[in-house]
Amino acid sequence: MDAAEFPAVTDAPGRLSFLPFSRPSLGEEEVQAVVECLRSGWITTGPRTREFEERFAAYTGARHALAVTSGTAAEHLALLALGIGPGDEIVTSPMTWVSTVSVAELVGARPVFVDVEPGTHNLDPGGLRAAITARTRAILPVHFAGLPCDMDPIREAAAERGIPVIEDAAHAAGAAYKGRPVGSLSLLTLFSFHPIKNLTTGEGGMITTDDPDLAKRIRLLRFHGITRDSWQRQGAGAGAAYEVLLPGFKYNLTDIQSAIGLVQLARLDALNERRALLARRYLESLDGLEEIRLPVSDAPYPARHAWHLFTILVDVDRLTLDRFGFMEAMKAENVGTGLHFLAVHLQPYYRDRYGFRPGDFPEAERVSERVVSLPLFPGMTEADVDDVARAVKKVVRTHRR
Ligand SMILES: *Cc1c(COP(=O)(O)O)cnc(C)c1O
Repeated sequence: MDAAEFPAVTDAPGRLSFLPFSRPSLGEEEVQAVVECLRSGWITTGPRTREFEERFAAYTGARHALAVTSGTAAEHLALLALGIGPGDEIVTSPMTWVSTVSVAELVGARPVFVDVEPGTHNLDPGGLRAAITARTRAILPVHFAGLPCDMDPIREAAAERGIPVIEDAAHAAGAAYKGRPVGSLSLLTLFSFHPIKNLTTGEGGMITTDDPDLAKRIRLLRFHGITRDSWQRQGAGAGAAYEVLLPGFKYNLTDIQSAIGLVQLARLDALNERRALLARRYLESLDGLEEIRLPVSDAPYPARHAWHLFTILVDVDRLTLDRFGFMEAMKAENVGTGLHFLAVHLQPYYRDRYGFRPGDFPEAERVSERVVSLPLFPGMTEADVDDVARAVKKVVRTHRR
């Protein structure tokens, strides 16, 4: 056969099938758990959610775990339970999903940002004291990509001023800081069970706390402000009466979702180990490539990384394409990528409302312009990782300045 009949090798994508950036790890066990729940006759919040909360509390070492409809709802309730509202300030980093900030905005509080550390993209504890004012009512560190923030200096700065810490652990289910599971370190911790997260229930979230009064308030706020949910009122021997103690939300997680969550929680450590193994393979295969910066894998303090994301920084100054161009070129190689995150303070709403400008948080902005999340999910094979690494090298090679 004539060689001219074949397309030039460099023009063909390195993979024949598209590799998505993320895919939930759901198997037959999750399917069976949902089927059993559907057949049981009870599908909204009930015994499975109760059990999911108990097991999640035991897993994280927190006294209370409260299941809700999303990580965003979890944060909303955490802020409301602390009585945070108009005139108050919360401190967080701009390198996060918008919900961390918009929920504060929605309760009337003002977001105050601290820049991120180079390397980890976590809130820089060194900048924290300068951001705290007499109005600061909560500090919200975000464990970027699943690597826990350095919590000791954050907790010290908070404790000096008597300010509660709410951890955004949406990326960090299964992570640990200095031997303690994330979820047991601060007054409140919130988790997300969105499909891309390390543990998923389709959509869902959890709040952990040791504080019984906060737990009680969150329980009320999550379900119409009434003292007992449907399960408690309709169970055998239960009375039908209820009392409304405050106007509340409809943020309860269903038993269908909790049925999935119970299976996922039992698999979480194994799923995270698989993520860590794939991440190590990326680190080895992409080592030494000058046009990209690899993520920090080890903190200078003991920490268990949940490896929610594998993010690289693309050195746009050395390439003829920008980050979006890089993502497009990866797509042409049949590799999906993600964007985590665009710096929140430069989003139009926050820029216009508070007058933020480029240069305000330079490290977050540097990351925001260069960051790309490569595919990372437990169902990936080692060969998939190798395909992605090969695609990264090819894109870099083709677009060097
Ligand atoms: C996913 C995510 C959230 C919100 O979780 P949802 O369940 O989608 O509401 C909050 N913070 C961060 C950092 C996230 O990645």
